Amino acid sequence: MFKKISKTIYSDYGNRIEKKPYYGLPKNIIFCSKCTYSNQKPDSEKEYTHTIKKVKESLTFNKNYVCSACSWNEKKKEIDWDSRKKELIKLCNKYRKKNGEFDCLVPGSGGKDSFYAASKLKYEFGMNPITVTFKPHLYTDIGRKNFDAWIASGLNNYLFSPNIKVQRLLTRISLENLFHPFQPFIMGQMYFPPRMASFLNIPLIFYGENPSEYGNDINANKKPTKDPEYFSTKDQKNIFISGMNINKLEKIFKIRKADLSPYLPLDTKFFNKKKISVEYLGYYLKWHPQESYYYASEYGFEAAPQRSAGTYSKYSSLDDKIDDFHYYTTYIKFGLGRATYDSSQEIRNGEITREEGVNLVKKYDGEYPTRFENEIFEYLSINEMEYPELKSLFYQKNFDKDYFDQLTNKFRSPHLWTYKNGKWKLRKTIF
Ligand SMILES: [Zn+2]
Repeated sequence: MFKKISKTIYSDYGNRIEKKPYYGLPKNIIFCSKCTYSNQKPDSEKEYTHTIKKVKESLTFNKNYVCSACSWNEKKKEIDWDSRKKELIKLCNKYRKKNGEFDCLVPGSGGKDSFYAASKLKYEFGMNPITVTFKPHLYTDIGRKNFDAWIASGLNNYLFSPNIKVQRLLTRISLENLFHPFQPFIMGQMYFPPRMASFLNIPLIFYGENPSEYGNDINANKKPTKDPEYFSTKDQKNIFISGMNINKLEKIFKIRKADLSPYLPLDTKFFNKKKISVEYLGYYLKWHPQESYYYASEYGFEAAPQRSAGTYSKYSSLDDKIDDFHYYTTYIKFGLGRATYDSSQEIRNGEITREEGVNLVKKYDGEYPTRFENEIFEYLSINEMEYPELKSLFYQKNFDKDYFDQLTNKFRSPHLWTYKNGKWKLRKTIF
């Protein structure tokens, strides 16, 4: 159960370096000499999923301080993409159905990458994909527009809308426990597509890029498939959502198992019996985010009218109003904001120099997201009418800026942050 937060005076905070870094992060902060990542970057795939309760760091550094994501990017240049494409054709031929049924499943939201993946498979490789979407918390106008354009480009889709009452509660608990407003949603997004594939008897799922390209488990890039351990578990009793065991969630918050089920990994035995292969299209086709954007644009994808909060970019992670807050929390917990994630990728793709990236980080990283603030705080507030029994469980049922600031300070690790002259500062920055 999360601790009720209380107003703490942080004046002595700057002297707390002797305390252990939070979340098991490395104490000495190292920046990559090629991109803008630091060794504080967590493994986004394993960040508080059903098996891991603690953040797992993901990057390793060579003697020249080059991070594993950058090293992998160099290695990628040696890949023979023609032969990889042939492998993909072979795979498609193996699974292609001739009876008019859908033969592969493409999870996505209608962002540039899922646009690219579904369109490529359908129009270039002659597959019949069914797309599956786990609905965002709060659609942005541009996110909903792009989702509609994605389907209008000639695709079929199952849009799954989870019980919003439960999703709001899980999100609130996740924020209080883990300072992670996206964690339940990420679980839904990760586990729901295999669940659908098993319902629909479609044994082939295509994701776009392997997140390991950005430094999760670098060795995972050497194979095209995703391990079943990501989607299933033998231990159904030991699943955590929002930092809490699901049995506790059911008991304390009176959430029914059926309402939790879209967020849960499948049982390993059941999953194996279905023989579902989960593949990364990025293994077979050279993936380039900006090119996916141009490709998707041809089918109606639009960039946002203005840059996203905390960064300079306009074309990634646009669907959900909570996205801005998600990157703000990564900045607080790991010192890595959205401009860091965007710039490190663009440096690796040769679109900007490291110097430009560093300047963009300096300018935008950690910018507090004001644009959807009120809507999000309302979304996170606990309505007594909805949950009369939960009143006493939360320190404050309404969510507002003051409460968010208190929570924020609770999650600043002393090895990253110092409090001086009434202001929070990162101890070490890349600029
Ligand atoms: Zn790097």
